Amino acid sequence: MRSEPGGPWPVPPGGGEPILPGGGEPADATDPALETVRPGQPTPGRAHRVGPGAHEGLAEEGDLGRRQRHELWMRRALEVAVTGPDAPSAGSAPDPVDDIPVGAVLYGPDGTELAVGRNERELTGDPTAHAEVLTLRRAAERLGRWRLDGCTLVVTLEPCTMCAGALVLARVSTVVFGAWEPKTGAAGSLWDVLRDRRLNHRPEVYAGVLESETAAVLRAFFR
Ligand SMILES: [Zn+2]
Repeated sequence: MRSEPGGPWPVPPGGGEPILPGGGEPADATDPALETVRPGQPTPGRAHRVGPGAHEGLAEEGDLGRRQRHELWMRRALEVAVTGPDAPSAGSAPDPVDDIPVGAVLYGPDGTELAVGRNERELTGDPTAHAEVLTLRRAAERLGRWRLDGCTLVVTLEPCTMCAGALVLARVSTVVFGAWEPKTGAAGSLWDVLRDRRLNHRPEVYAGVLESETAAVLRAFFR
């Protein structure tokens, strides 16, 4: 339902402010989709979805197991960010390339690791070779389908617009990310593509998982 700005709203008896549709407020003002997600505030109607600056899983009982699982998965994503997808698990140095260390892992509905990806933009010269996109491609190839519903994408940095769009198109059910990216983030910082109610698929979003560790890896790179 949309209201036309400046419409001929009925004026209450005795004058005063016109009565707007929706019980006295413009319709848009009560639409959670159009409210800005502010730091630390839950997205309206979604207790587990939080805005920038907040940590997940603090609100309700039963979140502890999920939080621990997300942190475990994020440690794996951090490992991928630092060592790359193909490196042995211990003691190897990352490739001497200039790629920003962002790592992603896709987990299936049963928690199986389906694919991993590290940002390879410089390595491959491919502007779309972000960790999330590579991970989605590899998982889709492995499963033989583009639909990744039921899956959880874990990434060390807030997704950009391209990756957020790809996550929506892949029908990923849950997105877990670490550090916020205030300059380009599309999961609550600059845009909120993942939770845009105009789209017919909206993943659950858990933000700020191992935020300090994931941010530290990026800071170390840029130092
Ligand atoms: Zn991206």
